[in-house]
Amino acid sequence: MSFKCRKCGTELPDEAAYCTSCGEKQDRESIISKLTNWATFKPKQVIGAFAALLVVGASVLTVSNAQSAASVTDSKTAANQEEEVWIAEDSDVYHSDPDCSDMEDPEQITLEQAEKDGYKPCKKCH
Ligand SMILES: [Zn+2]
Ligand SMILES: [Zn+2]
Repeated sequence: MSFKCRKCGTELPDEAAYCTSCGEKQDRESIISKLTNWATFKPKQVIGAFAALLVVGASVLTVSNAQSAASVTDSKTAANQEEEVWIAEDSDVYHSDPDCSDMEDPEQITLEQAEKDGYKPCKKCH
């Protein structure tokens, strides 16, 4: 289907908004209805794109949550394995803070070693 330019009469394709010969804007009902169609179609596209973004965003969030949860578990495990505590000669508690309880010459040992030797966690700092 085609139509003629209302100004110069050049035959134009149905979808032409402007004349290819004289450049006259073609204010036709079909164009207007196409624009209306586009206007009603566009929000759906935008919503579709937005929904797709949400899905992508949600999956990214899920992945990053899983990763941070995994890294928290990892660092906790590492901390348990390598945690250093402080013991004083005259007490049977271990401290995570070497300045706790005015210890004199505190000795630094691993938490594992302290528990093996029967030391108990300090109520103030541990
Ligand atoms: Zn024309
Ligand atoms: Zn303490």
